Amino acid sequence: MSYLIRSLLSTCLLGIFLLHPTLVIGQEEQQEPEEEVLPVVIRNVTLIDGNGGEPRSNVSILMAEDSIIGIVDNERDIPIESKIYDYSGHYVIPGLIDAHVHVTSNPSEEPRIYSASSLKHALYGGITTVRDLASDARSLASFARDALLDEIESPDIYYSSFIAHPDFFEADKRTLQPSRGAVLGKTSHFLAIDENDDLKEAIAYARGSGATGIKIYAGYDREMMRKLTEEAHRQGMKVWAHTALIPAKPSDVVAAGPDSMIHIEMFIYELFDSADEVDKRRGEQSIDYSKLKVDDPAIVKVFKEMAEKNVILDPTLISEKRLEHGEGWFQYNADLLRLAHKMGVPVSTGTDNLGSPNEYYLPTLFEEIESIVEFSGFTPLEAITSATLIGAKSIGIEKTHGTLEVGKKANMVILKADPSKNIHNIREIKVVIKNGKFYERALYTPIQAHSHE
Ligand SMILES: [Zn+2]
Repeated sequence: MSYLIRSLLSTCLLGIFLLHPTLVIGQEEQQEPEEEVLPVVIRNVTLIDGNGGEPRSNVSILMAEDSIIGIVDNERDIPIESKIYDYSGHYVIPGLIDAHVHVTSNPSEEPRIYSASSLKHALYGGITTVRDLASDARSLASFARDALLDEIESPDIYYSSFIAHPDFFEADKRTLQPSRGAVLGKTSHFLAIDENDDLKEAIAYARGSGATGIKIYAGYDREMMRKLTEEAHRQGMKVWAHTALIPAKPSDVVAAGPDSMIHIEMFIYELFDSADEVDKRRGEQSIDYSKLKVDDPAIVKVFKEMAEKNVILDPTLISEKRLEHGEGWFQYNADLLRLAHKMGVPVSTGTDNLGSPNEYYLPTLFEEIESIVEFSGFTPLEAITSATLIGAKSIGIEKTHGTLEVGKKANMVILKADPSKNIHNIREIKVVIKNGKFYERALYTPIQAHSHE
């Protein structure tokens, strides 16, 4: 019997342990390791578990290998034989999830180095999982494998197969870069589909990219949105759709019941007769957003349906801040998000921009988290749930990720200050733990790549 099991059995953790028979099986099937594997204890911290409840002080988190095996209040519940790290005075939150990144679409002449560099930057910045919403899945697949096995310093990576109407591929040159070397619109990760295609075959092909979900991007009406969603769900894939697909409006998109709707700024399409009109008026900056009613019944109806169907909104609020589409643009979008949140729409935190790895700053995700508090009225604890549990739900990994509970992955961030009191304290990172491995923030050094931004 391994050391780990003996030491656990010798304590009152037996109950916890029996709930996780897989650990026992795992230990007995494997060759007995030479070195002793002791449980690791994060001692005496304040726990913010990601479920949204009040912080719980003076707890200890017990980990074995890559999982959490106990969360205890009492010192005597800590196994005598364990590796103890005392973090008295610190706060622990689940590992953060950026729900909208493009890891392998980057401006570098050394794209692999740049991607590796931004992934390392993200991990030391507290991000233990990312959802990539369209980049080159051929290289993503290899990064995802290496991240899973902790062979590189990187968050876990889940990604999408990008699907749009063939006309979109013709019109938008951004599809070229991630499809290089292949026929445009014919790769399993960047796929052009129209109403004449066999959708069963097309979605099965998309699945072959290793993607967790499809990203439905543009060029579809209500009926195509429904068909694509139905078929992807039937084949066990998540459906992540732009809030407007043009011609499909937000009300058409939500009707299909996707898992995520992406970009708060696209709800405006619900208010005009045609998408062309929106685009034209945006182009001329002739929409006065400060005059638009935030609780317009058409948009309220969409939010209501999203809340009922548990469709997660990925607002990418921070990316709207960088654009200027007219008077009152950012505040209007922030107010829409405030309303959606109030109405019970689950919200994830995606940035559309992981952050530049060569800067000695934290990833963009921190700005998104702070923005939804500052401009859209989330409490700090709600924002943390958005950046952890809701992100995990959007990927479909909430059984193993997203909160700090017994049986889940040991993915967490230890903070030097209380983020529930002041959301900016979420930047006070002491150490990041992913799969039970420690990444000390102070030891972060960037991988150098040449950026051409
Ligand atoms: Zn994006």
